[in-house]
Amino acid sequence: MAATIWYEKDADLSVFNGKKVAILGYGSQGHAHALNLRDSGVDVVVGLRPTSKSVEFAKEQGLEVKSVPEAVAEADVVMILLPDQYQAKVYKEDVEPNLKPGAALAFAHGFNIHYGYIKPSADHPVFMVAPKGPGHIVRREYAAGRGVPVVVAVEQDPDGKTWDLCLAYAKALGALRAGAIKTTFTEETETDLFGEQDVLMGGINHLCDMGFDVLTEAGYQPEIAYFEVFHELKMLVDLANEGGLNKARWSCSDTAQYGDYTSTVINEETKKRMEYQLKRIQDGSFAKEFMDDQAAGAPKFKKLQEEFSHPHLETVGPKLRAMFSWNNGPVKDADEAESFTGKIARAQVQ
Ligand code: NAD
Ligand code: MG
Repeated sequence: MAATIWYEKDADLSVFNGKKVAILGYGSQGHAHALNLRDSGVDVVVGLRPTSKSVEFAKEQGLEVKSVPEAVAEADVVMILLPDQYQAKVYKEDVEPNLKPGAALAFAHGFNIHYGYIKPSADHPVFMVAPKGPGHIVRREYAAGRGVPVVVAVEQDPDGKTWDLCLAYAKALGALRAGAIKTTFTEETETDLFGEQDVLMGGINHLCDMGFDVLTEAGYQPEIAYFEVFHELKMLVDLANEGGLNKARWSCSDTAQYGDYTSTVINEETKKRMEYQLKRIQDGSFAKEFMDDQAAGAPKFKKLQEEFSHPHLETVGPKLRAMFSWNNGPVKDADEAESFTGKIARAQVQ
C-alpha cells in the first residue's frame, strides 16, 4: 500500500485564526517550532520553567514566554517538546490541570502516548508532527524557504477536525514544502526507536569504534584507522542520501564494491539480534527499562554515558578533524552556550 503524503496545497493555515499555540520547551525542536510557527503568522506562546536559561533567549527572539501552567491555560493547541522522560510528570502537574476544554495536545514523537505514560481524556484531540531531522535543521531549512519532511498521526479525533489541525501545524512548521507522510503513534514510536538503537546509533556507532579497535589492535596507526573506518563514512552517507545506496556504490571502486557484496560482518545472526531488539521495543520492555531508570535518577543511564564518553576513535579524532578547513569545530547553533559534551547527554537522532 502506497503511503499517503500531504503537501502545501493540502492544508489551510486559517485553521489557526483566533487560536493560540503553546510550545512547551525551547530545546532542539522547541525553538524551531516556536520560531517557524510565529514566522508563519501563528499566535505562539512558549512555556518554560521560570528558572530556565532559555527564557531570556526566547524573549530575545521576540517570543512571548510564560510559565508552563500559564501558557497551557491560554492555549488551544499545546505542543509538548520536552525530553521524553520528563513529559509525563509535567503533563500531570502542569498541563492536565490547566488544559482548556477541547484543547489539542501535540507531540513530536509518539513515545509517551504509545506506551501510556500520558493518557489524555477522550475530549482532547491528540496529534503528532514529527520532523525527520534535528530541530536546528528544521529552523535552518524553514529560514531558507525549504522544509524538513515530517511524519504525522492522529491518535484522538473527538471533533472530526484533528487532521486539519495536524496538517495546518505541519504547514506552519514549513514541513509541507517537503511533505508529510501519514503514520500512527505506534508505527512512529516503534520504528523510531528501532532506527536509533539498531542502525543509526547503536549500529553505526559501535561498528565504527569496533572497526577502529580491530585495526589499531592489529598494529595499524590510529590516524590511518580513523580515516578508514570513520572519516569517509560521511562522504558515503552524503552520496547515499542524494542517490541511494547505489549512488554510493557507483562512486566506489570495483574492489570496494566486491568487498561490500561479499562481507560476512552483517549476517543472519545480526538480523536475529535486530529482531530481538525490535521485540523489546514492541512489548514495551525497552521503554520500561529506560523510564524506570530515569525515575530512579538515571543511575544506569549516567553510568553508560560515562562508560561510552571516550570512544577509542576520539583518541585521534580532534587532531584529524582540525585538518579539514571546512570543519570549524563543534556545530555552533542556537544553543551554542552549552558544551558539546553536555549536548551528548540529550543527543537524540529522531
Ligand atoms: P531538548 O532536550 O533539546 O529540549 C527540551 C526542552 O525542554 C529544553 O528547553 C528544556 O529546558 C525543557 N525542559 C526540560 N525539562 C522541563 C520541565 N520539567 N519543564 C519545562 N521545560 C523543561 O529536547 P528535543 O530534542 O527538542 O526533544 C523534544 C521532543 O521532540 C521529544 O519528544 C523528542 O523525541 C522529539 N524530537 C526530537 C528531535 C531531535 O532531533 N532533537 C527530532 C524529532 C522529534
Ligand atoms: Mg528518530
